[in-house]
Amino acid sequence: MKVPFNDLARSMPRDEVWSRVREVLEDGRYISGPEVAAFEREFARYCGAGHCVGVSSGTTALQAALLAFGVGPGDEVITVSATFMATTAAIVHVGAVPVFVDIDPRHRTMRVDAVEPAVTSRTRAIVAVDLYGHPSDIGPITEVARRHGLTVICDAAQAHGASYHGRRVGSLADATTFSFYPSKNLGAVGDAGAVTTDRADIADRIRELRDHGRRADRDDHVRVGYNWRLDAVQAAVLRVRLRHLDGCIRARREAAARYGRLLARSHLDLPTEATGVEHAYHLYVVSGADRTRMRAALRARGIATAVHYPTPVHLLPPMRPYAPADHSRRLAVTEALARECLSLPMFPGITAAEQAAVADAVHEAESSARRVHR
Ligand SMILES: *Cc1c(COP(=O)(O)O)cnc(C)c1O
Repeated sequence: MKVPFNDLARSMPRDEVWSRVREVLEDGRYISGPEVAAFEREFARYCGAGHCVGVSSGTTALQAALLAFGVGPGDEVITVSATFMATTAAIVHVGAVPVFVDIDPRHRTMRVDAVEPAVTSRTRAIVAVDLYGHPSDIGPITEVARRHGLTVICDAAQAHGASYHGRRVGSLADATTFSFYPSKNLGAVGDAGAVTTDRADIADRIRELRDHGRRADRDDHVRVGYNWRLDAVQAAVLRVRLRHLDGCIRARREAAARYGRLLARSHLDLPTEATGVEHAYHLYVVSGADRTRMRAALRARGIATAVHYPTPVHLLPPMRPYAPADHSRRLAVTEALARECLSLPMFPGITAAEQAAVADAVHEAESSARRVHR
């Protein structure tokens, strides 16, 4: 049986999206405007945040959040290397220096006890990443931040709909950034992003930054900004899909539970959830196998997989200057994850039969590997 890695069409509410997009086309206000404002209100409410500002991507959301908190040249930002390049690129783009710390091996998010030792007199902010959809342990991270006067930003590009001790991601940090890249948990039909925050002043500053430093509905420019605006067609699609987000997260969590049962007798390390956390399972990432061999065996059976991410950010050539020089800050767990991580097919609408085919292929690959070793 052929199993795709992802199939966005299965969860696209086509008719609802068409009719909402048609209204926007007929309305004629295509950039910012009432559709964007409506999405911002609805997404803020969904997250339990005071404010949401829509921007052009998850990357510009991070840049805008860092700039709004005044992070800039000379500042250090404590972050993880186990992420997509964009998290670190945003820090570098505002002129700050990323200081990488390792991740927790079970949940693959920032190691809480690594944060305080990385604080220096230049540290201004912490950017935690909810990798694969598992929320960062933001409680103790925030305690460290408060002791040292640091801002906490959460990169939740993979974690829409996840929750932490009963609160939704998006309401937990000083600011949370989201990407609505089409394959994310909440996807647009192009590039889009947002920042949520409880701080009205920060939301206002991000509104200025995204629109050439302009105050809403005025022509005076109060700062040098950017064109990081969200367009109305993306907002229309997002408004429709937001109404289905909880159902999609439920489907992802059910699929993850089913993989847990189907793969219980395999030797793979399966994803786990910290106590009090609801993982959004943007990706279902296993480790502990010979990845090259396992991928090839699955591919031979028509099963598509992916790798998120084959090289940790600190080992990518443009980021090497920021790799920790100090041996005591080695990113051993991050590097091991990059070597072993394998993302299995995971998307709302994946069928039980498709998941069973994935599990059969994994078991078959494991038993033929044992035969080879004998
Ligand atoms: C997708 C992603 C981003 C970047 O979002 P874009 O919308 O593609 O700019 C940033 N961080 C993480 C963790 C991501 O997965």
